[in-house]
Amino acid sequence: MPNTLMWFRRDLRLTDNPALLAAVSAAGTDGVQALFVLDPVPFRASGRARTSHLARSLRALDRSLDGRLLVRHGDPVDEVLRAAAAIDAEEVHVAADYGPYGRRRDQRVEEALAGHGITLHRAGSPYAVAPGRIRKPDGSPYRVFTPYSKAWRAHGWRAPVAAPRGVTWLPAQGSDGLPAVPELPDVDLPDAGEDAARKQLTAFLDGPIRDYATDRDRPDRDGTSRLSVHLKYGELHPRTILAELSGHRGTGADTFRTELCWREFYADVLFHRPESLWESLDQRVGRIHIDSGRTADERFAAWASGRTGYPVVDAGMRQLLNVGWMHNRVRMITASFLVKDLHLPWQRGAAHFLDLLVDGDYASNNHNWQWVAGTGTDAAPYVRVFNPVTQGKKFDPDGVYVRTWVPELSGVESPGVHEPWTLPEQPDGYPEPIVDHAAERKETLARFARV
Ligand SMILES: Cc1cc2nc3c(=O)[nH]c(=O)nc-3n(C[C@H](O)[C@H](O)[C@H](O)COP(=O)(O)OP(=O)(O)OC[C@H]3O[C@@H](n4cnc5c(N)ncnc54)[C@H](O)[C@@H]3O)c2cc1C
Repeated sequence: MPNTLMWFRRDLRLTDNPALLAAVSAAGTDGVQALFVLDPVPFRASGRARTSHLARSLRALDRSLDGRLLVRHGDPVDEVLRAAAAIDAEEVHVAADYGPYGRRRDQRVEEALAGHGITLHRAGSPYAVAPGRIRKPDGSPYRVFTPYSKAWRAHGWRAPVAAPRGVTWLPAQGSDGLPAVPELPDVDLPDAGEDAARKQLTAFLDGPIRDYATDRDRPDRDGTSRLSVHLKYGELHPRTILAELSGHRGTGADTFRTELCWREFYADVLFHRPESLWESLDQRVGRIHIDSGRTADERFAAWASGRTGYPVVDAGMRQLLNVGWMHNRVRMITASFLVKDLHLPWQRGAAHFLDLLVDGDYASNNHNWQWVAGTGTDAAPYVRVFNPVTQGKKFDPDGVYVRTWVPELSGVESPGVHEPWTLPEQPDGYPEPIVDHAAERKETLARFARV
């Protein structure tokens, strides 16, 4: 049988990788070339945290392939064809990509390969259930999460597959080399690679899963899985997680399954409505008047640097700057603050998050932003405006989270830590609130009423 080419993309792992199994099986006793193409288009759009994670994850993958990962820098249309031709491959194997850019790219690659008699084979995807597969009985896509999640559970998913054994990996001849790992002395990022992902999953299932249903809302606790970055790069497949979860009973495991489903739902929504990446799904709500000009820019800068004078908002934005990740509850609070207290467009906040998040994912990020802004599917009712003080008191009752990320407030006790303007003295170096939440809430409701 002829050599085959395995083109890794968002599946930087050997275990539970159906595309890889297909490539190995098609090669028979011949060799498999492992390829990664550093496509300048998504690479330039990834912030430094993601660039770093990708570079480290590729190093891990290369190690598990005994240094035989062929890396090419350039347009995948040219590079995949070149790599396939070099080994006389008749088949290129990939996990299907359902994102707007990935689909267009794969179509171009597929056509280029077909011109040379080479076939692009797709097996699996970054999801337990591929986007587009679950539909209402009338064939139309789900627009609301709860019925989608019921159908998703009923549909089920395949069991994970083991890593292939005894593979003849072809040498990485003519490799352009692994991308450099950017120096990020100020950002504390998680370990990358398949082993790191497995370790993180085991640590979560050994403990935090039990109280996940309640702790997942507490930014002051280490109660969530921290698996988002590993899912983003496919160092772990959701199906692997779901299979391991089946051994865990209780509300923790059940809630966790639902959270994984949100990731799948948003990928499904984006698959059906690719324009919703940057356009409001609800165009009517999306027409709400937004602020622009110098004051708006200054407010955006205060938000981005964690200097709004609202402690939980500032703690979240500084956590993002320091570790490239933010707790989900605080993502909602900070996003709501930008859209509903500062009257800035959700797209501006989404782009900023994507620039800094190590787990930055177009479907999850932009659709969560739309949810907060009230423009998405399943949107929170637009009248819901998160109050940063009550949210802080409720989910960070002792102020532990705020004090961790906002050193100016490290000596302030709760509940004053969530509203420092009520203290006898404003803490040194900490800003006064840049806006009055109660007034901005009213303003937002008035603007909504107009559309
Ligand atoms: C404004 C905003 C932006 C977001 N941007 C991203 C993003 O770019 N990438 C990203 O992966 N998630 C994003 N999320 C969802 C969520 O905040 C993160 O997935 C979660 O914080 C990651 O931490 P974890 O792995 O410890 O989560 P856990 O609580 O352990 O959840 C397990 C997994 O479930 C999935 N998940 C959980 N909540 C959500 C959700 N609301 N939407 C979609 N998937 C979810 C993730 O894959 C996550 O890793 C965003 C949420 C908001 C409100």
